[in-house]
Amino acid sequence: MTAIPRLGPGTRLVLATHNAGKLAEFQELFAPFGLDLVSAGELGLPEPEETGTSFAENARTKAHAAARGADMLALSDDSGLCVDALNGDPGVYTADWAGVPRDFSRAMRRVEDALQAANATEPSRRRASFNATLCLAHPDGRDALFVGRCEGTLVWPPRGDQGHGYDPMFMPDGYDITFGQMPSEMKHGWAPGEKGLSHRARAFALFVETQIEK
Ligand code: IMP
Repeated sequence: MTAIPRLGPGTRLVLATHNAGKLAEFQELFAPFGLDLVSAGELGLPEPEETGTSFAENARTKAHAAARGADMLALSDDSGLCVDALNGDPGVYTADWAGVPRDFSRAMRRVEDALQAANATEPSRRRASFNATLCLAHPDGRDALFVGRCEGTLVWPPRGDQGHGYDPMFMPDGYDITFGQMPSEMKHGWAPGEKGLSHRARAFALFVETQIEK
């Protein structure tokens, strides 16, 4: 099959997420490109079950469900926090650790309890990465994946009230503040030719390189 053609001003694209935090970040990332964006929530598309065991599998499930449901190009994101001392947990179960309804203070506390149980008190034992896999899907079944990763250290107690999810306990390498203390453009601001800081910005930079009209 041929690759999905590049997207340009006016191309309609469904953002296949029901997560308000991710949606807001994508809207900011897409702002310079003039695409015609609509979210899966706005279209009333159901949220598919995420039964995969990898970010790629779940990203594909979400993007294809939205592309088929809306009969439009769709972009999904599957992301999560992988903690070295916890053998990569919570990984694809990052959202599940926040329970229902989602409570990220509880989720961060659960990560901290697990780190304490593993005696991971020194910063060097508290290494983690945020990972994002984006999937662009065409209603005809074609797709493309873009992977971004941001390494850092987990701090306790959480710091800052910006961002979403686990941001207040994640301090990216090279910074002495957490994602929760950063203005949004520092976390996922991105400019042509730059790599970006957050996992989502880094995956998005790869998406732009290969999928957006030059
Ligand atoms: P999913 O991709 O919908 O399965 O959920 C990913 C989970 O990872 C959610 O619980 C998010 O809150 C969390 N997550 C993903 N990206 C970020 C981020 O940039 N900051 C904080 N938490 C994130």
